[in-house]
Amino acid sequence: MGNSFQGLDRFAAGAQYIGGRLRPGTSGRRHTVVDPATGRDVLDYVLASTADVDAAVAAARDALPGWAGATPGERSDAMHRFAARLAERAEDLAHAESLQCGKPIKLTREFDVPGTIDNTAFFAGAARHLQGQSAGEYSGDHTSYVRREPVGVVGSIAPWNYPLQMAAWKILPAIAAGNTIVLKPAELTPLTSLMFAQAATDAGIPDGVVNIVTGAGRDAGEHLVGHPDVAMTSFTGSTAVGRRVAEIATSTVKRLHLELGGKAPFVVFDDADLEAAVHGAVAGALINTGQDCTAATRAYVQRPLYDAFVEQVADLMATVRTGDPFDEDTDLGPLISHAQRDRVAGFVDRARGYATVVTGGTAPLGDGAHYRPTLITGAAQDSEIVQAEIFGPVLVVLPFDSDEEGLALANDTPYGLAASAWTRDVYRAGRATREIKAGCVWINDHIPIISEMPHGGYKASGFGKDMSTYSFEEYTQVKHVMYDNTAVARKDWHRTIFGDR
Ligand code: NAD
Repeated sequence: MGNSFQGLDRFAAGAQYIGGRLRPGTSGRRHTVVDPATGRDVLDYVLASTADVDAAVAAARDALPGWAGATPGERSDAMHRFAARLAERAEDLAHAESLQCGKPIKLTREFDVPGTIDNTAFFAGAARHLQGQSAGEYSGDHTSYVRREPVGVVGSIAPWNYPLQMAAWKILPAIAAGNTIVLKPAELTPLTSLMFAQAATDAGIPDGVVNIVTGAGRDAGEHLVGHPDVAMTSFTGSTAVGRRVAEIATSTVKRLHLELGGKAPFVVFDDADLEAAVHGAVAGALINTGQDCTAATRAYVQRPLYDAFVEQVADLMATVRTGDPFDEDTDLGPLISHAQRDRVAGFVDRARGYATVVTGGTAPLGDGAHYRPTLITGAAQDSEIVQAEIFGPVLVVLPFDSDEEGLALANDTPYGLAASAWTRDVYRAGRATREIKAGCVWINDHIPIISEMPHGGYKASGFGKDMSTYSFEEYTQVKHVMYDNTAVARKDWHRTIFGDR
């Protein structure tokens, strides 16, 4: 089975989605989307200029009063229709996502696309459930209540590793809460964000509520973050770029939500189910070719299980099939680009000087940006391969002795996005969930996410939450409204000003 998606035909009108229609960028600079599995061109488009960002922000600002003023039920109805449009287009979306990212078709069909549809349906429901403290007479003399209001025009920036899901995670809670949005996807992967926005329009979500600018980070991205009419920045990407985004957002006093890099630990205690841990580690390290901010990257294995774990992980990695993403038997696609493959290979090559590459560490022949599943042992905790985010199919395994040591090593990187602990002992599991500093801790699994639960980082992995109703804390502002109930002109507290007069 081959790819059925024709990017050029689909985006002949341009790759900017502003005010409910596609239009060309006006920067004069072109970018080519390349299929990383073959090196073939998929779409050549003109990047967004700062003027295109201005037009998108203006469209979002114009749409704001109508959308923010709609009832939660009206927003919810539109978003349920949105979920239905996405479901009708599931196969199309899966093909486009596999084509621009090189993801195996079984991954986009079974994970990216259904996850996005479920997220859309979840936020359609959640739009009617904004939470707050109950109204009441907290002072005795007044009635207080809170209004949960949209923030305004949201400017979001997304990475290339899960383009459709990242667009969904940014757009859905924002619009469910009554905001309008301008999203800048990564230059490498604009297709499915544009298709997502088109589905929103086709579902009856008003023009201008969802806008996409496909531009470069340095100009379109920074212009969006610093834009005076943008009330909030929501960024998912690397910690390095997140720092720059934070500087701009802070200098323009914007609300900020940062979902940044990760280096998830995978802690295997000596009572763990070894077969489960081995399968969990290989799947958790290789999902999306390791280009996953929550991927299992550092396995810490208690000494009695260490040798068997390393041997079995190496054997299992050797069974993973690299190949054409549109072949249903392919387990592992290429990396997003040849540049990313070279970056990953650079980390592994440098590690050869101080660690052992047990398996992998090479690129198969061919035009694609493939890299073999790679297992590394013998690295020191403070080495680059253990500390840095590699974003490729590379797992490092280290031994530990006491439980304290295992948990301390798990916490010993700047990141804190996700982690897992593997044990049959409920007390060990409980301790791991309390002591590991990360936004998500799995017990006896690694990777699953659900729409109802929050996703977000601790430490250098950022702050704020995607998914779940917790995300409304980012995308709404809470207003306290207080009514005097006494109708008394001279209140008791006025004594602090007027004394006995
Ligand atoms: P990146 O930081 O290079 O780019 C992310 C986005 O920022 C892109 O759209 C890019 O164009 C834009 N950008 C680049 N420079 C910019 C600037 N100066 N101003 C404004 N925008 C700018 O990240 P990437 O390589 O696309 O994605 C991989 C990274 O994303 C990894 O670090 C990964 O961990 C992270 N990520 C995090 C999460 C999470 O939920 N925490 C999820 C997915 C990916």
